[in-house]
Amino acid sequence: MNRRIFFKYLAAITSGSFVFSWQSVIEASEKNHLQWGYIGKAAPENWANLDSKYAVCGSGLTQSPINLKSPITEDLPSISFNYQESALHIVNNGRSIQVNYAPGSTILFGGTTYELQQFHFHHPCEHKIDSQEFDMEVHLVHYNKSGSLVVVAVLMELGKENLALTPIFKELPQLGRKKNLSLTINAKNLLPTKNNYYYYKGSLTTPPSSEIVNWLIFEQPIKISAQQIEQFAKIIGNNARPIQALNNRLVLKSL
Ligand SMILES: [Zn+2]
Repeated sequence: MNRRIFFKYLAAITSGSFVFSWQSVIEASEKNHLQWGYIGKAAPENWANLDSKYAVCGSGLTQSPINLKSPITEDLPSISFNYQESALHIVNNGRSIQVNYAPGSTILFGGTTYELQQFHFHHPCEHKIDSQEFDMEVHLVHYNKSGSLVVVAVLMELGKENLALTPIFKELPQLGRKKNLSLTINAKNLLPTKNNYYYYKGSLTTPPSSEIVNWLIFEQPIKISAQQIEQFAKIIGNNARPIQALNNRLVLKSL
């Protein structure tokens, strides 16, 4: 696949057939706030049966996360990050810790600008690289005016303390609580130094698992300390959806 074909592929994903109301996705999730989770009857294998709106969690053919394996290496466009500092708004929504981001931070990808809305964490990781599992994963969620989504995923592996996460992980709110701190953060400090990435077309990894996401997953993980993982696990526990079938999809990898 050359660059021109890649852009055509991307355009097909981000054009009319995938337009949706982001707001309705959020409302659907919030209305059913306590119905889905990660253990017992609420666990991922039962999501499709919890609500008819979640049917695609079971029937969808382009679900996420996946094992990123045997990618096709291509001259993919670089992701241009234009992240500004944001006041620190941390929310514990019961399924993850989410940091809501101030307006005005964007990425430029494939000729389209997407705005960073929030980032949140999964423990352990959701995506795997060639079956390798990582300790955690952060999802930076971006969307544009036509409702198309790009999620940038950064894998996290055990190592030294991640100083960019320290102000967040020290202040993790209890279930259903929010914390608005008089600190600023910059999400660019969560990005790895190398910019190689994987690209594929998938879904939200939480109900309603809408198949609307352009996934960009950095190959290089960032570090996180055992203590930081423990801080998160104590509050949220495990919140990773299992690997989904690749089916008839391409996984691309940048040069
Ligand atoms: Zn996520």
